[in-house]
Amino acid sequence: MNAFLRFNPEYDLSSQPGVSPLFGVPVSVKDNICIQGKETTCASKILKGHVPPYDATVIERLKSKGATIFGQCNMDEFAFGSSSETSAFGPVRNPWDLDRVPGGSSGGSAAAVSADMTLAALGSDTGGSIRQPAAFCGVVGLKPTYGRVSRFGLIAFGSSFDQIGPITKTVEDAAILMNILAGHDSKDSTSAPMPVPDYTKALRRDVRGLRIGLPEEYFIEGIDPEVEKNVRAAAEILKRLGAEVKSVKLPHTAYSVAVYYIVAVAEASSNLGRFDGVEYGLRIPEKPLREMYFETRDQGFGREAKRRILLGTFVLSSGYYEAYYLKGQKVRTLIRDDFNKAFKEVDVILTPTAPTAAFKIGEKLNDPLAMYLSDIFTIPVNLAGIPAISIPCGFTSSGLPVGLQLMAKPFDEETLFRTAYAFEQETEFYKKNPKLDGEK
Ligand code: GLN
Repeated sequence: MNAFLRFNPEYDLSSQPGVSPLFGVPVSVKDNICIQGKETTCASKILKGHVPPYDATVIERLKSKGATIFGQCNMDEFAFGSSSETSAFGPVRNPWDLDRVPGGSSGGSAAAVSADMTLAALGSDTGGSIRQPAAFCGVVGLKPTYGRVSRFGLIAFGSSFDQIGPITKTVEDAAILMNILAGHDSKDSTSAPMPVPDYTKALRRDVRGLRIGLPEEYFIEGIDPEVEKNVRAAAEILKRLGAEVKSVKLPHTAYSVAVYYIVAVAEASSNLGRFDGVEYGLRIPEKPLREMYFETRDQGFGREAKRRILLGTFVLSSGYYEAYYLKGQKVRTLIRDDFNKAFKEVDVILTPTAPTAAFKIGEKLNDPLAMYLSDIFTIPVNLAGIPAISIPCGFTSSGLPVGLQLMAKPFDEETLFRTAYAFEQETEFYKKNPKLDGEK
């Protein structure tokens, strides 16, 4: 399945605090989260041999609660992708159908949880990279509010979008992990100085009186009818449980993907400038300095990373900055305003996580636009900085999982947990596991 890049064989339980909530619990992490003394590469050749001298704050927090950092999960190179095929270490496969992608970019994390290879995993989400693989692999994935979880030690992609979050089998496990991950961190100036509630207290089966909105713009042409059927059925179930379901409008949705691929690539090109053969990982030696930079970056980065560096550098270049980047930021504000307005009328917005179930390996790899469009329902959430969760809501006729996305107001993860838990306990899709016979 190629879900893991490295395991942590010498883990010593005796060094762990004896009585702690996660004592010995195997948690795996996406390979863009720094672990002290362990190679961390973002599944890229350019970070080969890069061993961080410190732990990311999330790793520190997990360790302090006794968790075993079990393995490092495969991913799209630098988290650029929706299929986990752009990894320099080969594609990850979907445990429900080994010829299909697990989604991305946290595909290794989602596949590993789905196949019970680890109890929980961390992913990162810039435009959907926790939620879309969770949907494709039939597990739970939460993208917290921007600022809810520290990004210290997360190798940056789009610094104004990135959030770390849990990928788990159940909503309760996600809540338990969020109790540990969330909270202010003085090492991350964008982390919010806000108290962290006990998320497990939000796990009630009751959604009576909850107002749920279905955005018209998310039920559009191009969405797989089987996905739409399952998601609409999910809305009906929540209605039966006492929620009020109505239609809402998010009029600027159509611009989301375009805006994201301007602003996020601009941030990415700037963040990736530091990988030049001097401080981190790969260095192509015995060359004059300029050629060393060129050769290292040419040999170190894969195709998608190069595409994004070029696009990002272009949209930031003088003369184009106003036309693209600045305009993109303005439209981003309109998209955020859409959500602010919608959340005056409803508490939760319900959508599909992705327009289709898992696609075939190779199907979209050479068609970047088709690949980018698979994030059409997850990207607006990152543009607005709001939290969203993907939970299993059924299966296609060929047995592939379908994901339901729930979105809420900034810092209202509790309402997501409450809604997701009520739905999960009613439907029990999480009890179905992929049958794994004959690894590929
Ligand atoms: N698939 C989107 C992209 O390619 C989102 C990736 C992510 O969230 N890291 O940028």
